[in-house]
Amino acid sequence: MWTNGRIWLVWGAVLVVGCAQQPEQPLGMLAPGVTPDGLEARVGEFAPAVIGFDTAVLAPWQKQVVAKLIEASDVLHGVYEVQVSPRNPQWRAQLDSARGTGKEAAAAYFAIMVGPWDRLEHDQPFLDVGPKPAGAGFYPEGMTPADFDAWLAAHPEDRPAFTSPFTVIRRQGDDLVAVPYSQAYPAELERAAELLREAASVSQNASLSRFLRSRAEAFLSDDYYRSDMDWMDIQGSAVEPTIGPYEVYEDGLLGYKASFESFITVADSAASADLDVLKSHLRSLEEHLPIADRYKNLDRGFESPMKVVDVAYTAGEARSGVATIAFNLPNDERVRAAKGSKKVMLRNVSQAKFNGILVPIAERVLATDIVERIQFQPWFTNVLMHEMAHGLGPGFIMVDGQRTTVNEALRDLYSAIEEAKADVTGLHNLTVLADEGVYDDLFVRQAFAGHLADLLRAVRFGASEAHGRAALLQLDWHVDKGVLQYDTASGKFDANIQAMILANRQLATELLTLEAEGDYARAGALLERYGTVPPELRDAIGQLDGVPVDIRPEYPAHAHVDAWGGGAPE
Ligand code: ZN
Repeated sequence: MWTNGRIWLVWGAVLVVGCAQQPEQPLGMLAPGVTPDGLEARVGEFAPAVIGFDTAVLAPWQKQVVAKLIEASDVLHGVYEVQVSPRNPQWRAQLDSARGTGKEAAAAYFAIMVGPWDRLEHDQPFLDVGPKPAGAGFYPEGMTPADFDAWLAAHPEDRPAFTSPFTVIRRQGDDLVAVPYSQAYPAELERAAELLREAASVSQNASLSRFLRSRAEAFLSDDYYRSDMDWMDIQGSAVEPTIGPYEVYEDGLLGYKASFESFITVADSAASADLDVLKSHLRSLEEHLPIADRYKNLDRGFESPMKVVDVAYTAGEARSGVATIAFNLPNDERVRAAKGSKKVMLRNVSQAKFNGILVPIAERVLATDIVERIQFQPWFTNVLMHEMAHGLGPGFIMVDGQRTTVNEALRDLYSAIEEAKADVTGLHNLTVLADEGVYDDLFVRQAFAGHLADLLRAVRFGASEAHGRAALLQLDWHVDKGVLQYDTASGKFDANIQAMILANRQLATELLTLEAEGDYARAGALLERYGTVPPELRDAIGQLDGVPVDIRPEYPAHAHVDAWGGGAPE
């Protein structure tokens, strides 16, 4: 009877809703073939994650700086939205006032993708707006690369302005003109500059204030050089802002134009001190690479500023699509030549991805004894080792008596080989550091176990991309060496970690040697031999359906902006 009563209640609710309004139609703005349910499933691929940090480490003035920078980030997010498409604000407003099922999912997915195109599906539109222009909002609609080149051929004096990362190209009658960002987005950049100057005046760290002031100036002058230099020189500041136009990925037409983004972060001084310890081992790691001595690159610089930070807030490109866990900036080669570049590891974002993606993958397809070894800190240290390993091993090399680079010699195969090299060399380096007393053997085995889950995460999206190809190479190698065994009954991979350490070292020798020799044919043969997805791996990947693709960050810091003093300084 209890059950029947409950059914009655449910029916009653349906009837009330049914009488009150017409049954809802699907949202009219959806692209052909996109259904409300399908869109909801896509939103579900992004697991909500709270990205917080220990606010107690910040003094009141630092909180005030963070609040100002969060406000500035929101302003720049609006600029990025228009960089993706000038019609974005209008589409967002239409979505807000539209009715129909799927409206909420559409609004959520629009926010995740910053626009109506699916960044996980090669920019397929999910709203009925047509294909995404390759040049996003940076160029006039319909302008082709040939039009651009023809204009520059006729007006060579326009080249610096047209190819600048900090201009947009517009049509003026029949002419093309380059409009500097400061004039394309004047109100937003003036407001952002004002907020940065306010933050600078509150800041009690001179190097931080210097960066904030010169970056504010850059927003108005479009000259970012000085402020990039000042960013490299920020010292002793818990608040580490990265804010401005940086990467050019969004410009799929010509690859010139930089997108606005911001990472407002809080540095962890203890973790960054651990990194300083690692820096002192870099030379020794180069010496212990498992290759012939003549291939070791002991002349390179071993200065490599690295930071471990927690993210308080992101905006712009940094808050679109898949969330970044590490970045390496600035891109200006003049600054890189003078001061190198800073590698920044985003710890709390990494932790969220570890919990939300890595652990569920491991639980589905790895044997229990491996899963039990997977811990955040060894995994995160391994991510760091990967980044450090990119800076070790052959760089400039001699091929047939000619000086060249590994990149030039391996051409289209370079990215996959270099990503695999960074993985296996990073893991090998952990064993060297264990010999030198930095880590214990358990920590190293935990890192190898975590790496297995990482490889399965990376192959999930296919081998068409460098990281996926590099992961497949390693998995196939370990299956071939008998390190990895698939149990058809349980559908899980088990591994002998001790054997994996040895097989990994062999693969490091192979990859570093072919890089040192710039051996294109050998690189191709290796990727070919270890480049197919065996049935057991396809089986395992099939079991990962429903594991989120990425996280959907929520930043509690944003709720503190008023309390922390986001208003004008006294
Ligand atoms: Zn890499």
